Amino acid sequence: MKSHTYTDTRLLIDNEWLDAASRRTIDVINPATGKTIGTVAHAGIPDLDRALAAAQRGFEVWRRVPSNERAWIMRKAAALLRERADQIAGLLTQEQGKPVFEARIEVLAAADIIEWFADEGRRAYGRIVPSRNLANQQLVIKEPVGPVAAFTPWNFPINQVVRKLSAALASGCSFLVKAPEETPASPAALLQTFVDAGIPAGTIGLVFGDPAEISSYLIPHPIIRKVTFTGSTPVGKQLAALAGAHMKRVTMELGGHAPVIVAEDADVELAVKASGAAKFRNAGQICIAPTRFLVHNSVKEAFVTQMVKLAQSLRLGDGLAEGTTLGPLANARRVDAMDKLLENAQRTGATVATGGARVSSDGCFFAPTVLADVPLDADVFNHEPFGPIVAIRGFDMLEEAIAEANRLPYGLAGYAFTKAIKSAHLLSQQMEVGMLWVNQPAVASAEMPFGGIKDSGYGSEGGPEAMEAYLSTKAVSILAV
Ligand code: NAD
Repeated sequence: MKSHTYTDTRLLIDNEWLDAASRRTIDVINPATGKTIGTVAHAGIPDLDRALAAAQRGFEVWRRVPSNERAWIMRKAAALLRERADQIAGLLTQEQGKPVFEARIEVLAAADIIEWFADEGRRAYGRIVPSRNLANQQLVIKEPVGPVAAFTPWNFPINQVVRKLSAALASGCSFLVKAPEETPASPAALLQTFVDAGIPAGTIGLVFGDPAEISSYLIPHPIIRKVTFTGSTPVGKQLAALAGAHMKRVTMELGGHAPVIVAEDADVELAVKASGAAKFRNAGQICIAPTRFLVHNSVKEAFVTQMVKLAQSLRLGDGLAEGTTLGPLANARRVDAMDKLLENAQRTGATVATGGARVSSDGCFFAPTVLADVPLDADVFNHEPFGPIVAIRGFDMLEEAIAEANRLPYGLAGYAFTKAIKSAHLLSQQMEVGMLWVNQPAVASAEMPFGGIKDSGYGSEGGPEAMEAYLSTKAVSILAV
């Protein structure tokens, strides 16, 4: 196994890396070994005040940087990220667990996202509206909304930050992020590339600490004009309510429970390969991971057999070890959650076709699991599993599968496999999701919208819609006198 170093993480304020004023730190644990590998600074209110003042000053500078110059800095950061991909991937795997090849893909995808938004920022067009009076000129102007407070989770420590960061910077906003305490070094390395690329001091800031304390201080704070959060639905609802009470603009990217509909006429081999890859990536800890597999009864047996084969072919291990294709879960909470889901599934009548238990080790390992004939009232079919469990049940009519897909309050990702264009149309019209992939695994690109409906949140983190979230609209009418 190639050796990788791990670095302690401090707070980024005004382009300087600082300890917390109190000198408090939090331990960082490698989920593959259960060992402490470093620390992260724990910000208190005085640190947050400093970071907020920096974000205000940074906004006044950055909003006045022309969009092409913003794009140069962003492109330079993206190039540095590519240069440092191996080193940053090593940090990411040590703190989060995913196989290092997945971590590397995450870093490279981040560079691509930064570049896409760098270009998009140059097209934040307003418009000229024909006036009813020829002496009057009517303009619609797009302006950056102001300093942003962002809250990001541990499953994609870089990707979750970079989507928000890139759209905010391209729009001319300053950006203060509370990144995850469990996985701090890789987002810090991301922000370092912007510092090295020459971003003006105060434009970006990074803090860690007690998530509830930081969000309850930053969201109501008058300097913050926009709030963006990725995480669970219950926390998202709390933060959205707080933001609403203070009339802050909000983007919420929350939990999901993605249905996968495998129709009678589907290519079963493709369905297993594509949905299995999407399922086991990052050990299933992805908000858009397929989670409720609804398989037509005529192809169910073949689907279960092939999915079991795929699950058994995975190599569970330390993400840094050569050949690992499935890492540990990111923390002990997730292993406990899998245990509970499995116990409940078996009690309610599901069959464990493979896996089904934690793997004895010091790390947070859980075997890739396939459950067949899962009853609708099993917890795994109702609560986001966020782990390596494929839960399958059969159906007879496509309409029945669509009704089941739409039954839950979530509406993030959906998947469908069918060769019939008629079924593909029906599914695209009737599935209550923010994103639908037909005959393919999830491919989340910078240029496509990314977000949910219903309890999965609102707003988008991809495409031109993502820029809109960081822009205000000003209507200006100028009368020549
Ligand atoms: P959690 O609900 O406590 O935390 C989820 C995220 O929100 C974490 O990053 C956490 O730091 C943050 N958070 C929690 N309380 C907060 C607060 N008051 N203010 C600001 N941020 C806060 O649970 P968890 O154990 O970390 O994760 C469990 C569940 O969260 C998963 O089962 C999954 O449903 C969801 N989750 C979703 C995503 C996603 O990509 N949408 C990512 C991570 C976790």
